[in-house]
Amino acid sequence: MPFVLPTLDAPTSRRDLLRTAATTAAAVAGAATVLGAPRSLLAAEAGAEARYFPEVQTPDEAIQRLMEGNKRFVAGNIQAPNRNMARLREVAGGQRPFAAFLGCADSRVPVEIVFDQGFGDIFVTRIAGNVADPAIIGSLEFGTLVLGAKVLCVLGHTKCGAVDATIKGQEVPGQISTLYQHIRRAAKEAKGDLNAAIRRNVQVQAEILEEASPVLAKLMREGKLKVVGGVYDLDSGVVTMVDV
Ligand SMILES: [Zn+2]
Repeated sequence: MPFVLPTLDAPTSRRDLLRTAATTAAAVAGAATVLGAPRSLLAAEAGAEARYFPEVQTPDEAIQRLMEGNKRFVAGNIQAPNRNMARLREVAGGQRPFAAFLGCADSRVPVEIVFDQGFGDIFVTRIAGNVADPAIIGSLEFGTLVLGAKVLCVLGHTKCGAVDATIKGQEVPGQISTLYQHIRRAAKEAKGDLNAAIRRNVQVQAEILEEASPVLAKLMREGKLKVVGGVYDLDSGVVTMVDV
């Protein structure tokens, strides 16, 4: 049976979305019989796909949504909300992410996964050392002003190679060292202590975002956006907030 999925242009109630998911679930379960796959297993997967969280309204709700997601991830209790084909089609016509990120490009910090979010939920920029360069700032202005993200999180992580390399001032090939100029201030203020430099770098980049972007500063003044900081622990998966 064909089914039509909603887009942002055609507002749809949560109940409709759940019904769509249920229809998908029924189709999957039906297909299971044909394919000879265990019906119970597929039904359980389809049930997980039906999870749908209500829209975030305020910056504080957005922060809470993120921290709850990280708690689920750390506890091994991931719900993978909005991570299915129904959600993919729902947001294909338009996105309204509730949070934006400036994270490190490190392959061990996949932001959607560690905060247990799905398609269309978070607007993520990633660059080695999570530094606020002009292209990143422009991207984050788009994610907040245009798309409506209510929280902007600068996310550093333990054992960050970019911060470590800046502290050590290592010779590196190509243009890798262009990152150093953005991290040097934090490295210096932390007097070479890696963990302190990682935390300080989160604060410095958050300051740069506000100072270099009148767009972000205005959203913050108006209470439409909160900028927060965090450090992700590679060993535990826990995100610890950093005052910015
Ligand atoms: Zn890093």
